[in-house]
Amino acid sequence: MDPKIKEYLLAETNRQNDGLELIASENFASKEVRALCGSILTNKYAEGFPGHRYYGGCINIDLIENRAIELVSKIFDAKYANVQPHSGSQANMIAYYATLNPGDKILSLGLDEGGHLTHGSKVNFSSKYYNFIHYHLLDDGHIDYAGLLKLAQEEKPQMILAGFSAYPYTIDFEKIGDIAHSVGAVFMVDMAHIAGLIAAGLHPNPLPFADIVTSTTHKTLRGPRGGIVLTNSEQIIAKVNKATFPGLQGGPLENIIGAKAQCFFEASQPEFKEYARQIIANTKACANEFAHLRDVVSGTDNHLFLLNTKVSFGLTGDKVEKMLEEIGITVNKNMLPHDDERPTVTSGIRIGFAALSTRGINEDGAKEVARIIDSFLKNKVTKEEALTQVKELAGSLKNIAEL
Ligand SMILES: *Cc1c(COP(=O)(O)O)cnc(C)c1O
Repeated sequence: MDPKIKEYLLAETNRQNDGLELIASENFASKEVRALCGSILTNKYAEGFPGHRYYGGCINIDLIENRAIELVSKIFDAKYANVQPHSGSQANMIAYYATLNPGDKILSLGLDEGGHLTHGSKVNFSSKYYNFIHYHLLDDGHIDYAGLLKLAQEEKPQMILAGFSAYPYTIDFEKIGDIAHSVGAVFMVDMAHIAGLIAAGLHPNPLPFADIVTSTTHKTLRGPRGGIVLTNSEQIIAKVNKATFPGLQGGPLENIIGAKAQCFFEASQPEFKEYARQIIANTKACANEFAHLRDVVSGTDNHLFLLNTKVSFGLTGDKVEKMLEEIGITVNKNMLPHDDERPTVTSGIRIGFAALSTRGINEDGAKEVARIIDSFLKNKVTKEEALTQVKELAGSLKNIAEL
């Protein structure tokens, strides 16, 4: 191996093992998932879909891709699946391209209130090709469903989009689906963050209500970095497949599709339900401990919550992200509902427990995480003391190479 790359890979392995990973969109994939990502499947060109390829020699590739489709359809109770999107963003691009015309109107939640870049941010392709109008959160941080209904009746959009990147509460897919269908809009759900919780039956499944569903496979679902599109409509899957290839992508990453199949296999096991239950328990325990320490946190029903660092510690989210990195804790700055700081500064951070729960942390450990962060940011311990506490806690968890 290139000695430089080998050195950097080792350093990254140590960083992941020695630190506490609290980024809500990250996780640690199993050895089997990682082995398939690095497998000989990367050697094969397979443009097209199982049974309809533009290259010969796809007999085994077809079996693998069909296995992924069969498993993911079963998990989410979907009639049809496309497992080829290279990422969550690509899955969304495919979903828009398949179901809308350029210039069509989409109602979504903005990035500043918990949506994703691909949900119409002005720096993203989505806002250049489609006309996004944002619905909003109430002051308590929950979706303003009544406001969404009113907006939908006024705007008559072609699509309503739900599913977010920094929303700590359960989403009422049935209610939003009813609103969308009452105005003749396509109802799209982007379940990138909560797919693992849905797979485990711990968050309502959007499939009975949505026309089209997209997801990543690497967040709570704990698979390789990638995307999927699901639907119950034969017409929509035909359009999705055309939009994927030849519309927007070339040859599928069959090594990643093999790893996705393994991820779906793992998510179908009883242990995965136990894992997802533990994520939610850990997230609640940590958020409650912050509240107990008189810090300002959102509520949480899922794998993440928001910590108001400005009110709690007099520090911006940006500053806290940097300070915590120095003691081996990884988080991301995040806008809070109605934040008056810029997106590069923010008034808070997002904390998630999908990754540390994979390493076997329990509620006591999750509370300890809150105490370490709180005492460091309130200057009750030195940086060296906090770093020692982090190393000790991280050292008590599973090694990432053995997962
Ligand atoms: C993470 C995320 C995506 C994009 O996933 P990438 O794989 O990073 O492109 C899309 N939508 C939502 C809601 C997300 O949280």
